[in-house]
Amino acid sequence: MVCPKCNGTNVNVTTETTGMSTRNRGRGCLWGIGRATLIFCTCGLWLLVGKSKGKSNTNVVNKTVCICQDCGYKWYI
Ligand SMILES: [Zn+2]
Repeated sequence: MVCPKCNGTNVNVTTETTGMSTRNRGRGCLWGIGRATLIFCTCGLWLLVGKSKGKSNTNVVNKTVCICQDCGYKWYI
């Protein structure tokens, strides 16, 4: 692993856990269309399934983060 900023090889690689909200973000309109289609095709049954699936609006995301020990530069891979 080489630092892209100072080309140093003294890089610490760790895993960072971040909670990301999945509530209507980053889905785009395509997701809305797909969801509406599913609800329509299943006569609303999918909506019930989706509701019962719960309230987990947060998704735990693990990111691999590299921190350069020489210059402090931090980046994700
Ligand atoms: Zn560096």
